[in-house]
Amino acid sequence: MALAVMPACQVPKAMPSGLETEVQYLKGVGPKNAMVLQKLGLKTVADVLWHLPRRYEDRREIPPLMYLKPGKHCTARGKLVDVKSRSIGKGRVMIQGVVADKTGEVALTFFNQPWIGKNLQNAVGRQIVAYGMVREGYRGALEMHSVEWEAIEDEDIEEFARIVPVYPLTEGVPQRIVRKAARSSVEHFVNLVADPLPDEIRRAEKLRPIAWCLRQMHLPDTMNDQLAARQRLAFEEFLYLQLALQMRRLEVKQELGISFPISSLGGANTVLGPQEERDRTEALGRRTLPGTLFTTPEPMGDTLWDEVHRMLPFELTGAQRRVIDEVWSDMERPVPMNRLVQGDVGSGKTAVAACAMLAAVRCGYQAALMAPTEILAEQHYINLHRLFDPLGIKTVLLVGKLSAPQRRKAIQQTANGEAQVCVGTHALIQEGVEFAHLGLAVIDEQHRFGVLQRLALRQKGRLSPDVLVMTATPIPRTLTMTVYGDLDLSIIDEMPPGRKPIKTHWKKAAERTQVYDAVLKLVDEGRQAYFVCPVIFENEKMEAQAAEDLYYRLSTGVFQHKRVGLLHGQMKPVEKEDVMDAFRRHDLDILVSTVVIEVGVDVPNASVMVIEDANRFGLSQLHQLRGRVGRGPYQSFCILIAEAKNEESVQRLEVLRETSDGFRIAEEDLRIRGPGDVMGTRQHGELDFKVADLIQDSHLLEKARRCAMRVLETDPELSSPTYASMVARVKARRRDEALITVS
Ligand code: ADP
Ligand code: MG
Repeated sequence: MALAVMPACQVPKAMPSGLETEVQYLKGVGPKNAMVLQKLGLKTVADVLWHLPRRYEDRREIPPLMYLKPGKHCTARGKLVDVKSRSIGKGRVMIQGVVADKTGEVALTFFNQPWIGKNLQNAVGRQIVAYGMVREGYRGALEMHSVEWEAIEDEDIEEFARIVPVYPLTEGVPQRIVRKAARSSVEHFVNLVADPLPDEIRRAEKLRPIAWCLRQMHLPDTMNDQLAARQRLAFEEFLYLQLALQMRRLEVKQELGISFPISSLGGANTVLGPQEERDRTEALGRRTLPGTLFTTPEPMGDTLWDEVHRMLPFELTGAQRRVIDEVWSDMERPVPMNRLVQGDVGSGKTAVAACAMLAAVRCGYQAALMAPTEILAEQHYINLHRLFDPLGIKTVLLVGKLSAPQRRKAIQQTANGEAQVCVGTHALIQEGVEFAHLGLAVIDEQHRFGVLQRLALRQKGRLSPDVLVMTATPIPRTLTMTVYGDLDLSIIDEMPPGRKPIKTHWKKAAERTQVYDAVLKLVDEGRQAYFVCPVIFENEKMEAQAAEDLYYRLSTGVFQHKRVGLLHGQMKPVEKEDVMDAFRRHDLDILVSTVVIEVGVDVPNASVMVIEDANRFGLSQLHQLRGRVGRGPYQSFCILIAEAKNEESVQRLEVLRETSDGFRIAEEDLRIRGPGDVMGTRQHGELDFKVADLIQDSHLLEKARRCAMRVLETDPELSSPTYASMVARVKARRRDEALITVS
């Protein structure tokens, strides 16, 4: 028996081998197909192995055509017997490819895709597999819409009686070639893929080896095997993100932060435990900065809590007190605070922020508050100034629209420490703004800021300042764990007393007149009203136009004798300011606006909110908008004007009528619209997954988080050699995060 030995000289030395092998050397691919695969960015075997299918077609038992079910996505197989093309008016063309077997026919139907006609013509007489939505067409003839189809070559027979992967493609790349490359890569190379997860983690989490998973992703034996493979890949992705986030969380805790002596001001309810006591002594010992600002606070007659009670015009809710306590104990600890406060609209997050800022100031530090828009910054400034001025605390506003001298003055006061509280937009973290001794940074409505901005603000202090993040919207837990996974969490889960629940109504466009009359009646009683125009995606100009139109209609129509104002994103900041001020002072009865007012605006006398074309908004966004009313003692109303286009839009609006629980609404939003939308239009690197899906795989996310914590507990730096290949992937995740939008 002769042994087939390949002489070493037949393999050119420079030819990359293993997973780096170029696709042209794959069996059944060759140089020509390799060029085609390039269009998908697939150059090496590794590229192909990680180019995962989008879905699968079970071709083991494709039923005869007579069994196609209208209203369902089906796979059909038969001979392409005819191609018909028909004009359907207005220059539109319908093309139908008729597929037949012994039992029946189905017409693959395409609209306005002339090139399909040519492709179909070329395939007449051949066997076809098609996948799409089956519908009943003219006279009960079966049609298939949104079709993906392919002709089956003779050599494809092996692809036949099995579960076939369907890959994401691009123009000019046939499934067949990708499948071939994938099959060949799996058969010859998959065992070379090193498993980045150490055995110990795989065993603990009951995960299959990576090679098995990749094989099952490309060539599944059963759908269950494919599912198991997918789960492992999803878990792995979550794990890297969780490791990255938890490492950052631990790193912040390594930094030298400020230990605000809050208990000595009578601010803490809790006695420091022995560990915390030790932390603190140690930190005090380390504190050797020249001219350190740490001075023993002046003795005062009042405790911090007394001062809080004097400062606020209301009693804090239990939840607010609890969260203030959590924040203050964080501030007392020598590690920098990195905490997220979540609470529904109107739960009183501002008061919590004010208490944190008061504590920082009373300990001899400055506090900063950063808001996402000028309107909000200004409003925070007004509120904080009102609270702090009587206590002799100086507050300044730093926003882009300040005149040069105003700006210089504010910057100077911030730099020399005269200003104890600074409120601003991202102008606060721009070059040139220095703080004398920043101790606390509060970031309001965080999801509009990137992680980088959080870091930039942190670097404004000599010791790392404490950071408190407040979100406007309740966020589903799965998102909190990803986007805010590096923060500690406090939740304000109680509303201030005496709020009357807002009545939410849903009206059709035809009922507008009644709606307007009802609003007029409330305005006559002395209330104010908001009208919100539809969101026009990605187009602020058109959105502004819509607002102008509505403004014109209302101010010359039903409300011609009332004072109507207009607010939209295309106006100059000063103009916006003036309009907001006028509405606050009740110099306006009605404010017509785009979603500019979505966050944080607080006018207690406003008791009715009319939202036009409510279908265009996300649920959380509608909930936010609704939260602008119901802030005073009056019965408030939210009126959604929308046509029920389909079952889903009815369902969505019903959720909003039924509940005022922001967390439930956010969960629903996440389910219906997906994570990107829930978090706003900005991109979040934390939400980019190849396989994992935040909704479908939320249980895996929990698992991954626990696993990450367990691993970091024993090895906080992942320094063990068994983690080496995992570390590279965690690092990649961290680089992604650093790229998150800053704007
Ligand atoms: P959000 O959490 O939406 O930022 P705000 O901080 O703007 O809420 O508070 C909403 C309104 O409720 C404000 O008018 C505020 O003065 C008021 N408020 C906050 N806390 C309380 C409380 N404990 N009792 C009564 N009113 C409160
Ligand atoms: Mg707020």
